[in-house]
Amino acid sequence: MIGLAPPLASGRSRFNRAWQDAGAPISLAAMTRIQLALGATALFVSTTAFAQAVDPRLAAARDDALANDTVAWDITEGLTTEVGPRQGGTEAEARGRAWALAKLTALGFANVREESFMMPTWVRGDETAEIVSPFPQKMAVTALGGSSSTGAKGLEAEIVYFPTYADLEAAPVGSLKGKIAFISHSMIRTQDGSSYGFAGPARWTGPNLAATKGAAGIVIKSIGTDRHRNPHTGGTGFQPGVKPIPSGALSIPDAENLERMLKRGRPVRMKLVLTPRDIGQQRSGNVIGEVLGSDPQAGIVLIACHLDSWDLATGATDDASGCGIVAAAAKRLMAMGTPRRTVRVLWAGAEEVGIHGGRAYAEAHKTDRHVVAMESDFGADRVWRVDFNLGSTAVADRIASAVRPLGVTRGQRLAGGGADIGPIIAAQSLASVDLQQDGTRYFDLHHTPDDTLDKVDPVQLRQNVAAWVAALSVLANASEVLAAAPVAAE
Ligand code: ZN
Ligand code: ZN
Repeated sequence: MIGLAPPLASGRSRFNRAWQDAGAPISLAAMTRIQLALGATALFVSTTAFAQAVDPRLAAARDDALANDTVAWDITEGLTTEVGPRQGGTEAEARGRAWALAKLTALGFANVREESFMMPTWVRGDETAEIVSPFPQKMAVTALGGSSSTGAKGLEAEIVYFPTYADLEAAPVGSLKGKIAFISHSMIRTQDGSSYGFAGPARWTGPNLAATKGAAGIVIKSIGTDRHRNPHTGGTGFQPGVKPIPSGALSIPDAENLERMLKRGRPVRMKLVLTPRDIGQQRSGNVIGEVLGSDPQAGIVLIACHLDSWDLATGATDDASGCGIVAAAAKRLMAMGTPRRTVRVLWAGAEEVGIHGGRAYAEAHKTDRHVVAMESDFGADRVWRVDFNLGSTAVADRIASAVRPLGVTRGQRLAGGGADIGPIIAAQSLASVDLQQDGTRYFDLHHTPDDTLDKVDPVQLRQNVAAWVAALSVLANASEVLAAAPVAAE
């Protein structure tokens, strides 16, 4: 692993400061000195094995993005300021699409358009939680997307505690009748976000599981890593035939308080009020713009983010910054002259509430000749690793060499794409490249009221644009056929 320091409280890493001090554009020799200073000698030695000469025009575009890009910030700042929270299917998201159409047009993209679709829409209502006995006090709670309503009078019931998701799985059917299930877990801070995979099921499928055991409602410890009284929302799903139950997330400090109460061994009763509503089929849409290529037979490079956010915040890092990064990189590619392949920018609608935009895109464009897809949806902190699902080793080597001076190491995992490009990747077995962002502080903010512009570090945001323009330039201009890596034989 590259020996980079985690971001400091200011949001800027030791690495970035060293980088600025060294001046930009940075030379490989200077980069090496920084890596050595940070104790990353092993990385430097191992990555020289695939070093390739980097096209000087690409290097210049990359280094200019690193030093000077303003487009990604302008988009992130503009969306969060002029549109604000923009939940899928709502009037706010529609304002976001109008903003996006005007912005992509102003930036000079071709074929800027909206492709609308209809989707079932859920909106938040009142939300409160309080311990009724034995230690009466209020707790910070938010409804999970897809939760049913308790009704205005609320639900008062005894809490049944499950330290982990696996403990809930082991509970007998019917054992939770009339009770409120409480699932805890221990999500930890990781650079690659891997702990989300461990803790996430409490939110993704915990409510459905509790409902099948007869629970009247559920609260979970928020899926997050912060120490604030900010509950983390996010979608949950119920299987056909399972009646949705009221489902909320407690802030992490409140969930820990509840754990301490339960350890005292007396029955704990909670009153939960959640009054979300389903408002039926509403219009959402994808916003698309293109950089036209010279060779229609070479296929399309698809790059995506999602335009919608949860309603609790302005979605600065989830995912306004992703839209800023992909559009800024495509704009810089445009400035380098006509690429071989068309690059299509997809600002997807209604991702948070069920990946509706990604699915609608895959259906509408199932006959288009895509060759590779990429997505930015993991915050605004620096890219630290690149993973590939590419049949051409030569193309992967060129990308790895082009991003290496940005402090990006080459990973060993098969690239997986992302939520919005998932449906089209699956439908067409597309190649993908993952520019993995540092997720160390992502889950402090994720789906909370704290996901606001002040958390975005402009220096790290520019590093993202630099990495993206480097990768895009290679993919859009490669003379090789682009295809996914062959599936390994069993
Ligand atoms: Zn997202
Ligand atoms: Zn999200």
